[in-house]
Amino acid sequence: MFTTESEKRDYALKPMNCPGHILIFKQGIKSYRDLPLRYGEFGQCHRNEPTGGLHGIMRVRGFTQDDGHIFCSEDMILEECVAYTALLQKVYADFGFTDILYKVATRPAARIGSDEIWDKAEHALMESLRRSGVEFVIAPGDGAFYGPKIEYTLKDAIGRQWQCGTMQVDFSMAERLGAEYVAEDGSRRHPVMLHRAIVGSLERFIGILIEQHAGALPVWLAPRQVSVLTITDAQADYAAEVTKTLQKQGLRAASDLRNEKITYKIREHSLQKVPYILVVGDKEKANGAVAVRARGNQDLGVMPLADFLGKIASDVARKL
Ligand code: ZN
Repeated sequence: MFTTESEKRDYALKPMNCPGHILIFKQGIKSYRDLPLRYGEFGQCHRNEPTGGLHGIMRVRGFTQDDGHIFCSEDMILEECVAYTALLQKVYADFGFTDILYKVATRPAARIGSDEIWDKAEHALMESLRRSGVEFVIAPGDGAFYGPKIEYTLKDAIGRQWQCGTMQVDFSMAERLGAEYVAEDGSRRHPVMLHRAIVGSLERFIGILIEQHAGALPVWLAPRQVSVLTITDAQADYAAEVTKTLQKQGLRAASDLRNEKITYKIREHSLQKVPYILVVGDKEKANGAVAVRARGNQDLGVMPLADFLGKIASDVARKL
């Protein structure tokens, strides 16, 4: 499949989902009417990184990629890139990243495909970014031998840059692995393949999120959203009931029924950066209420459980 060492290296950097998606594409005869065809998966990738290169969950040997491939014609590259950029911006914004750098890597000296196709693909990538209303830089010659690409780099809260998203045009792989479709004129053509990932490595992205929020993940993302703490054993049943109600609403909640001082328990859960701590004593139990503490030591006072449910549901809906 590879003719040169550098080709082998370029493809070696790709996870093996790409040929897998080609196999799916090759099931049955495809027509131009089927295009664009978009496949996506959370694919497991492995790279034998040198020990010295490993770094927390930022750089690991086994990771999960939000990998996707779009099979389309050359004419569809522009539209697909516009739609993809919009999706990427939406996903990044949901996670709190709005400062994105865009880079278009263009044709290297050694490449396959005619200049005409390259002109078209590079123009499509740049035009898609213009249509998205963003500014971008060009990295001349930085594209792969099989096509140009866009790199999407996000800036975190303290200005560090993380390249996460890519949109890689590929004129080569579909042909090499025999993927084709029937064109309008009845001829057989090879689709262009767009390799795309939004967050890149899920593990690394989680690492970036933890850094961005200094561990205090927003309510909708926090691994535990609510801790329910009892003051004495007398409220154990009520705390369990409150926790169950929260869980039924789809919230990640747990109770702490330990026989420890309430100040000690509050401190522990605060250190865990749990967004909401609900304290229940006899009074709360008698009134179907909870005493709410929000992260950052904010005392929100006592409120009916239903009111708290409304409040947290609104946080989650607004991606706070
Ligand atoms: Zn791929």
